[in-house]
Amino acid sequence: MIISIASGKGGTGKTTIAVNLALSITKEIPLSVRNDTSCQFLDCDVEEPNAHIFLKPDITQRESVSIPVPKVDEKKCTYCGKCQEVCAYNAIAVIKNKVLIFPELCHGCGGCRLLCPEKAIEEIGREIGITQIGKSGTIEFVNGKLNIGEAMSPPLIRAVKKSILTDKINIIDAPPGTSCPVIEAIKGSNYCILVTEPTPFGLNDLILAVEVLRKLKIPFGVVVNRADIGDKGVDNYCSKENIPVLMQIPFDRKIAEAYSTGIPMVEVIPEYKTCFLELFTKIKKLFFYQEA
Ligand code: SF4
Ligand code: SF4
Repeated sequence: MIISIASGKGGTGKTTIAVNLALSITKEIPLSVRNDTSCQFLDCDVEEPNAHIFLKPDITQRESVSIPVPKVDEKKCTYCGKCQEVCAYNAIAVIKNKVLIFPELCHGCGGCRLLCPEKAIEEIGREIGITQIGKSGTIEFVNGKLNIGEAMSPPLIRAVKKSILTDKINIIDAPPGTSCPVIEAIKGSNYCILVTEPTPFGLNDLILAVEVLRKLKIPFGVVVNRADIGDKGVDNYCSKENIPVLMQIPFDRKIAEAYSTGIPMVEVIPEYKTCFLELFTKIKKLFFYQEA
């Protein structure tokens, strides 16, 4: 089962929901079926991963992630320009008797190498970031860390998602927004929780995120964070669009203070574990309903 946690904008509390859901459900799995890998947490917010601050995993494995970029053998190249023509990302240009490569624009699709008539292109790896694997209690933890200044996050997200085991409960902390990295992170999910806040900005970005999820045909529901600060716009929109509001979390100074020191909210207000378990139960029912 794969549950992704996303939000149309940053700063809504997406990671808080993901981390506390994982911590709460880990306790829910019956001891008879629980093993050390029953819940996995995948931090796919690779540009700014921060779930590790709260889960404090013991990292045991780090792996470099690269994408293949072209390297031209000038001895074989006839400067025909075919590679430039085929590249949809303007990552390769042929100027007079020179082939220029812009590695930071290259998506590593291999099109230029395949279509070069002279077989003058080979591929070399360009590191875009690393994956880190470890454990936080009984939670298997994986995250990706994109290199500073690097824009090519989808391949790194794919590398993090390679750790998904579909017979486990996989919690994905997706990047914020509605662009390619988010789509890469949430696709394949059985359910997506959209975290928002009850403000006009929150509503605006929620509407965009809902459009994406409907296009991807992923079932979803909404969690409203800081629910008592703001207006009724999100509630009204969800009710009009028939979107389930799964949980409302009122602003609490204790949660904010705990967040600022890297402490999960279920540790400072343990009653929230029950709320997260209820949230998980609702999602599970929807999941099994889909599977039936
Ligand atoms: S397609 Fe091959 S031969 Fe043609 S310009 Fe590009 S690298 Fe050179
Ligand atoms: S690998 Fe793909 S993206 Fe990169 S330069 Fe070649 S055609 Fe362009």
